[in-house]
Amino acid sequence: MLKKVEHIGIAVKSLDNANTLFSKLFGKEHYKIERVESEGVNTSFFMLGETKIELLEATKSDSAIAKFIEKKGEGIHHIAYEVENILEEMERLKKEGFELINQQPKEGADNKLICFLHPKSTNGILVELCQERK
Ligand code: ZN
Repeated sequence: MLKKVEHIGIAVKSLDNANTLFSKLFGKEHYKIERVESEGVNTSFFMLGETKIELLEATKSDSAIAKFIEKKGEGIHHIAYEVENILEEMERLKKEGFELINQQPKEGADNKLICFLHPKSTNGILVELCQERK
């Protein structure tokens, strides 16, 4: 079972510019910046009540975020859902016919284990499962 929306990921060309823009929009500053080397991204996080917004900037031209922006431009990149046990959920969703992009959980930003579901199996939305690392 997916518990709740953990965060919404937004692809941006420049994290600096986006941090300025979104801090004006939200009326508050980001609380964290983190580089995720394995994904080729810099991220920043804003907390709005219980909802997190993650901004993602590519650090190299062949990263998924760079390719996304090239194809679709800046905008909503993924919706992340919190799960209790990521391995169980990956198994369950695979049986339900969803296509996992990574077959093993990998390290995401913000101390999470993550797995992506391919948008072609989820009505065009890139879905991220995330589990708090214990
Ligand atoms: Zn994310």
